[in-house]
Amino acid sequence: MSGRYGHQPNRHLPTPVSAPLFPLFADLQGRRVLVVGGGPVAERKTEALLHAGALPSVGAPDLTPRLLAWYEAGRIEWIDGRFDPHWLSGVWLVVAATDDADVNRAVAAAADASHVFANVVDDRELSTFQVPAIVERGPLQVAISSGGGAPMLARHLRRQLETLLDDSWASLAELFTRQRRRIRQRFPQTAERRRFFEKLLAGPLPRLYRQRLHAQAEQHFLAVLDEHATTARGSVAVVGAGPGDAGLLTLNALRAMNEADVILHDRLVSEDVLRLGRRDATYIEVGKSATGHSTRQDDIHALMLEHARTGKRVVRLKGGDPFVFGRGGEELEFLRTHGIPYEVVPGITAAVACAAYAGIPLTHRDHAQSVKLVTAHCKDSFDTLDWQSLAQERQTLAVYMGVAGLEGLRDRLVAHGRAPSTPFALIENGSRRDQRVLTGTLADLPETARFHQVRSPALLVLGEVAALAGTLHWFGAPPVCAVAPTHSRNLPTPTLQAA
Ligand code: SAH
Repeated sequence: MSGRYGHQPNRHLPTPVSAPLFPLFADLQGRRVLVVGGGPVAERKTEALLHAGALPSVGAPDLTPRLLAWYEAGRIEWIDGRFDPHWLSGVWLVVAATDDADVNRAVAAAADASHVFANVVDDRELSTFQVPAIVERGPLQVAISSGGGAPMLARHLRRQLETLLDDSWASLAELFTRQRRRIRQRFPQTAERRRFFEKLLAGPLPRLYRQRLHAQAEQHFLAVLDEHATTARGSVAVVGAGPGDAGLLTLNALRAMNEADVILHDRLVSEDVLRLGRRDATYIEVGKSATGHSTRQDDIHALMLEHARTGKRVVRLKGGDPFVFGRGGEELEFLRTHGIPYEVVPGITAAVACAAYAGIPLTHRDHAQSVKLVTAHCKDSFDTLDWQSLAQERQTLAVYMGVAGLEGLRDRLVAHGRAPSTPFALIENGSRRDQRVLTGTLADLPETARFHQVRSPALLVLGEVAALAGTLHWFGAPPVCAVAPTHSRNLPTPTLQAA
């Protein structure tokens, strides 16, 4: 027999070891595929084949309960017995998934002889096709292959892609599939079609899908199709960056930071978090700290507006959660007034993060049934607080921005009936490398903070649960239990012991 490539059958041509696999997406709808083996691995492969609409024939003396259920439901065929090369007749592919190396080899040899592609699970040499790692978003599939040589690497990459591709991709793929004919009619030339898609993807479409505004997304699509869409409008994502540990960012926060053209961040946002943002974004610190330089809220508003109006994707990145003492509400009101589209990504707020990282459960059946998040940074804000209710027992107070006003805080709480022996924990730089936790009792709170020079950012947890930091701590240095003898109060150099 003489083919186009000469007299030798192709498979005998010397193939360089490094020859890449030919990537292929096979349409198995309604086609028979043989799976040899009836154990858990065969079950996984069969499930993937069913997902692709194939008709699996499973050949094995025994089946797992799930395989058996599929057989009983008529979804798969079952060939009861040990492998026989005849099983291969009429199948498009074969998967060998037994734990018997001889059987797997026999399957591979028989498949080769009848020109059926074979995948032998975990055996690159015996396989004539590989099953890639897959990231699926609706009709969109990303397949990753290491050629069978480094499946762990492919899986690792798959996990990274899983986190990067939100499910707006599925909606986009569905929309483009649905409108394919129309798009082709409207833009018959490839180049103009490409421009059309680029314009769509750079615009608000992905965001509209993320916000589950499907009707608006469709409308926008049609407007761009008819070239009625106005020039690209920017948007603002108000994003919570968490307390500092970059691992506490949400996937949505990470995505927003990856897409941003401009990142307006508070000083409270840690370096570790900022490092994860898009490299070529413009970073602008709009820090507000109790002491140093601060950007006025009006200036922050103006910056958001300026950049969004020139079509930029702006991320307004805030420490913790944007809606917990973060003025996120005001920023949204401002954006709404000016017709700038926005989205909000919540973050882990300092109270939740600091408590967790200090080993303090904010609620506890034995000690506290409620938590109050309070901010108390100046005298004015003190006067508006309901001290009666703050001083109640069996609740936990999480006090933000409390370092400056601790004295007033203690005095008022005690005056309203909270026991001076109530435990506290002060958590400085919670979740960060330099986290420090001080514990003690309400009576000595301000003196302890002063003696140990607690600096912002620090969060105060007050209530019986705070004492649990002593036993449940797990992160960084153990808490410093500060004991201040009563006579030392208010002295310039109190004699405190660090345990
Ligand atoms: N929106 C933020 C709070 C902003 S107010 C959030 O949800 O966390 C700023 C105050 O938050 C600080 O003064 C401090 O009390 C607290 N804070 C923020 N990050 C902190 C951290 N890593 N450790 C301790 N306190 C923190």
